[in-house]
Formats: sequence, C-alpha cells, structure tokens
Amino acid sequence: MPTSQTTSRAAIPSVDRLLQQPALRQLQAHAGRQLVIDEVRGELADLRRRLGAGERLADGSTDEQILCERVERRVAALLQMSLRPVFNLTGTVLHTNLGRAPLAPEALDAMTQVARGASNLEYDLGSGRRGDRDAHVEDWLCRLTGADAATVVNNNAAAVLLLLNTLAQRREVPVSRGELIEIGGSFRLPEIMRRAGCRLVEVGTTNRTHEADFAEAIGPRTAALMKVHTSNYVVQGFTAELDERRLADLAHRHELPMVVDLGAGSLIDLTTLGLPAEPTVRDTLLAGADLVTFSGDKLLGGPQAGLIAGRADLIAKLKRNPMKRALRLDKTTLAALAATLRLYARPEDLAERLPTLRLLSRPVAEIRALAERLQPVLQQAVGDLAAVSIEPCGSQIGSGSLPIETLTSTALVLRPATAKRRTGAALKHLATAFRGLPIPVIGRIADDALHFDLRCLEDEQALTAQLAQLRLG
Ligand SMILES: *Cc1c(COP(=O)(O)O)cnc(C)c1O
Repeated sequence: MPTSQTTSRAAIPSVDRLLQQPALRQLQAHAGRQLVIDEVRGELADLRRRLGAGERLADGSTDEQILCERVERRVAALLQMSLRPVFNLTGTVLHTNLGRAPLAPEALDAMTQVARGASNLEYDLGSGRRGDRDAHVEDWLCRLTGADAATVVNNNAAAVLLLLNTLAQRREVPVSRGELIEIGGSFRLPEIMRRAGCRLVEVGTTNRTHEADFAEAIGPRTAALMKVHTSNYVVQGFTAELDERRLADLAHRHELPMVVDLGAGSLIDLTTLGLPAEPTVRDTLLAGADLVTFSGDKLLGGPQAGLIAGRADLIAKLKRNPMKRALRLDKTTLAALAATLRLYARPEDLAERLPTLRLLSRPVAEIRALAERLQPVLQQAVGDLAAVSIEPCGSQIGSGSLPIETLTSTALVLRPATAKRRTGAALKHLATAFRGLPIPVIGRIADDALHFDLRCLEDEQALTAQLAQLRLG
C-alpha cells in the first residue's frame, strides 16, 4: 500500500523549492531560466492532475531528486533539434519526406560562406549598383541546358505556379488528360492551375491524346500548350501521346508558347551512368519547348529549388511578375545551387562528386560488401529478437522519377523471431527502436520483415557506433 505521505498533494514540493536544487540551478544556467521554470511547473501540474484523477503513483514519485531528473529530461527533449539527420535506408534515394537530395561538400561550403556574413546577393560588384540574385545561377543554367535565359524560385511547384500565372492568368491552358498529375499528395496540377488563375482545358483521354485533340482545344483564350512529365506513374497498353516536338510545332503554328513541367529534369543523360533514361532539360528545349520547369533537389542533386529555363522574353516576363518576389530563393539556397551547377562542368567525375548520382549509380557489389560487413554487427545488436539476413532488393530513385524501374541493390532484412500472429507488433517494436537511435535509422516494413536497403548508407562507422544504444527492452 502506498504511504499517504508520498502520494498526497501535500507531498508535492513547491516550484521554488525545486528550482533551488543544485541540479536545476545548473540547468537554469545553461538551458535558460524561463525554460526550466516552465518545465518544473509542467511537471508538477502533471503530478497534481494524476493525483486528482485518483491515480495511484509509484513510491518516490514526489521525491525531489526524481522530479529534478524528470525536469532535466523534459528540458533536454525541448532543446534537442527537432529537424535532424537520419539514415535513409528506405530504398528510395530521393525521398521527399527525408529531404530528397543530399548535398555535395562544395554546396555545403558555399552555403556556410554566404550564411556567415554579408554577400553580394543583389549587388553588382562590377558597377557597384544593385544586382539581380538570379545572376548567380542564370549563366550556368543556360550553359547546362542550352537555354537563352533562366530563373529560379523556391521549388518546382512554385515554378509552375509562377509560369502559369504569368502566361495564362484568366486564360486557358490545354493539358492532356493523361498528364493531370498529383505529386506527393499536395501538388495537383488542376489545383495549381486554379490557384494560378488560369483555366485548365482537359484534352484527349486518359490513355490516348492526339494532335487533333489539342488543335480542337485551341481558341482565342488559349495562352499556352502544356506538357507535364508523368513522373510518378506510367500509362501502359493502348496509349498515344504527343511528343514535345509535335506539341511545340502545333503551338508555334498558333503563335503560342509550349511549356513543359519536367519534374525531375536531369541535366545529363543518365544512361551514361547505367541508369534508366530520363528526358534532359536540353533535349526538351531542343524539341521546341519555350519554357521548361524542373526541381533543384531531384535528379539535379542540389537544394530545394524550382528552375525555369527557356526563351529570354518569357523569362523576363516571369521576373516582372510580383509573385516572383514572393517565391524567390534565399542566399544559402542560391549558393548551394550555384556550387552544385559548377560540378557539372566536369561530367566525367560527376558521379563521384555529386552524392545523388553517386548513390544512384553505386555498384551493387559495393552495397553487397557493405551488407556482408554489417550483417553480423546488426545480428549481434538485435540478439535473438530477429534473424538478420542479406537479400537482394530494388531501390527506387524516388521523387516521382521512373516509378517502375528499380536499381539492383542489397538489403539487410530483419525477421522477428516471434509467432506469426505477433509479427506485426514485433516489427513495429524493432522499427521504433531503430528510429529511437541518436541518428534515427529509417527502414521499410514489407513482407513481415524490416528492410534496410544499404544503397544510401555511406557513413557505416556512424551507424555501427550507435548500435550499442539500441533500446530493445
Ligand atoms: C516533383 C514534381 C513537381 C513538384 O516539384 P517540387 O520541387 O517538389 O515542388 C511538379 N511537377 C512534376 C512533374 C514533378 O515531378
């Protein structure tokens, strides 16, 4: 029976009394006084609420030392960064929820250099006058895509919004019914079009769209013809679509611009790295597109950004839209993008220096060797809770790129050593423990097992060093 002494409200120490404890005095000095006061109040309020609800508290629940420790844990949890690094062992390289492209060291350096102090962000060092922040990337974007001009905004969704709002507000844009995409839940082309103030004219059918369908849709209110790269699905079977060249020719015969939302938009021919083919920005422009939009943090391997390349007069129009000001990039992102683009000057070692391409083209023998080194280490870490095996798997590029093509890879697969009916709970328990590590390890649960695709694991040491802290109890 609990003693009335330890569980009654009277036994709860006062806020002031707790704050006088040496441990909490020290904590106030390094974590901030108000934060500690708030957490002491929070902890004591919790205790009173539980007592008030008639809960029987364990002996010692109101001990000052135990309360101090609880407050210390609360403060530590608040001070820990919420946004932090994880190991992406999901098998999806460009994982939107896990931050997409990892940046090259050159990009990281460039970011910290400009973040530390003043920079010539919008200042022309030649003339000493006000400059244009796009100038830091425009020339390189043009070189790498063959475009006459280029501009950048916060992400590709913003690029599409700016483009449509500038060229097609209160006017119509025909798009094939086979290309009305939704990306990652929140980017839905019809909704972006509505928000951009333009009217979507659906043409053709889901599986087949012909030139005549587009030709019929063109009228006095048409502002542009648009093509959207169906990056996260494929329409297979009895299909027909208009390629860029024919759509561009049709648009130009009607003196309309043809615009393409390319999504991932690679700057190089990925097949040279043994990867599946993706349309390049250059080829899309060569096929006649007047403007192309694509992401900075997908196949390009840079920071989150939306890039628009194409005709100089249209780019100038986009830059005059006040929306551009609201969607512009900050200096650290611009610096990272500028440094990333410069890596493309030497395509021969790009796959080594640009982490995204390095991970995507990583030889399976290397991944397999890594799996063989890690298997015994991981088996020891999970003990008899699960059997750890090495299995072939297929990594996804992710971010809507090439949904059906996978890259041959190797996974460590954890199969719980429990009765079949309790596998689900055991898997959840294992996955939670790995997510609870100082650098959380994120895998994928499938076929009654927890899969860790090792393609994206480069810092093997950092992973193994923390396994002793795995809390499976
Ligand atoms: C990814 C993607 C987008 C959205 O790009 P964000 O950079 O995530 O804003 C838009 N269109 C297509 C075709 C895409 O693949």
